[in-house]
Amino acid sequence: MPGIAILGSTGSIGRMTLEAVRALGPEYRVVALAAGSRVEALATQAVETGACAVGVADEASARALRKALPEGASPDVVVGPEGLAALASRDDVDVVVSAIVGGAGLPAALAAARAGKRLALANKEALVMAGHLLMAEARAGGAQVIPVDSEHSAVYQAMAGGRREEVRRVTLTASGGPFYRRPDADRDTVTPEQALEHPTWSMGRKITIDSATLMNKALEVIEAHYLFDLSADEISVLIHPESTVHALVEFVDGSVLAQLGPPDMRMPIQYALTYPDRQPAPWPRLDLAALGALHFEQPDVRRFPALGLGFEVVRRGGTAGAVLSGADEVAVEAFLDGRIRFSDIVPVVERVLRTHLDGPEGVQPSDGTDAGPAPKGSRLRKGVQASAWSAEPDLATILAADAWAREETTTCLTRSTFSK
Ligand code: NAD
Ligand code: MG
Repeated sequence: MPGIAILGSTGSIGRMTLEAVRALGPEYRVVALAAGSRVEALATQAVETGACAVGVADEASARALRKALPEGASPDVVVGPEGLAALASRDDVDVVVSAIVGGAGLPAALAAARAGKRLALANKEALVMAGHLLMAEARAGGAQVIPVDSEHSAVYQAMAGGRREEVRRVTLTASGGPFYRRPDADRDTVTPEQALEHPTWSMGRKITIDSATLMNKALEVIEAHYLFDLSADEISVLIHPESTVHALVEFVDGSVLAQLGPPDMRMPIQYALTYPDRQPAPWPRLDLAALGALHFEQPDVRRFPALGLGFEVVRRGGTAGAVLSGADEVAVEAFLDGRIRFSDIVPVVERVLRTHLDGPEGVQPSDGTDAGPAPKGSRLRKGVQASAWSAEPDLATILAADAWAREETTTCLTRSTFSK
């Protein structure tokens, strides 16, 4: 009877994980839950699942959670990154579903890997930031990292058709998001509501915006690099509007294995829970005859330059991923808050990444316009070295790079070129 911890249980993946666990029946038991806020929903989940321990992001949420729990329900309440790391390492937890959004998920994912748990990983930002550390901790701790991201679950499944050294190339598919088919869409005036309308997947807010810029695919290229030890040349991306073929693995003999399924995250979630077994599932099935045709095309990296940044980060490695991830989180948040235009998200992330990789003098935006000098007040100007790229960073260096990227992005966004 595997004990499951669901971190990020009130989110899109978290709620679908609870559905999948329920559908699997009483052999699968939720022992711990955690979320950032939304304590009412968390309290309801805790009562419904009978979880022994519940984690929240801060003390205020912990107080609110204790109030929201009905009398008689008394799970352990833990707080903050350390509390969540402790949840992920509990003896009664066998599987940690890491479904927190953003860099906040990293400490608990590392703790689960260190403690030798099965890590069902949806939180791609943890890998983007610190993939080399997370995979090394998993190897040392004897943890299995089973991807939940649909493309990576597909690669994981298709890779079983051969040996790693027989793999020539992995292709991740991308729907293209809401604007790919609309070359005329004025991306300067797109509203958060429009960008949140994803054509095929229903997901949390950050990943939906990332899908619209194609930054999500950039993060997934980096994720694939760390999960499967693939070089940038061994990874490619195809636009596939039906989101039915999730990924393809090409072997040295030219044979290609693809994994298909409806765009329904409950499938890769269940696979990560039941692996290496497969269990019957009640979700709608793939109907290829109803779909009729599947389409594929090369991505337009000129219109969607985020994708190129993903490959660049794979080539450079080190702290580049933490900077890309931190900058993107801040930029997406600023767009959702109405502080910047949709069309500002990728340029600001690119600018911060270039400052990190090349220094303030080397900032050359890909559109050829003059980026001007490093922003006033930038920590670089003061000679602080937190921004310097490092090839083999430890955790402290990664967290410093992430913090620098967030601050640098915020500084860039206050400049008139990026704010509305
Ligand atoms: P979401 O915004 O719907 O949910 C995020 C969850 O994280 C919430 O429960 C929130 O309370 C929790 N959280 C946020 N900050 C926290 C903190 N500091 N401490 C504890 N909990 C915190 O996001 P989502 O769409 O479910 O995505 C979660 C992760 O899964 C992301 O990394 C995303 O890229 C990845 N993913 C999602 C999908 C999808 O279909 N939604 C698909 C593939 C991968
Ligand atoms: Mg995905």
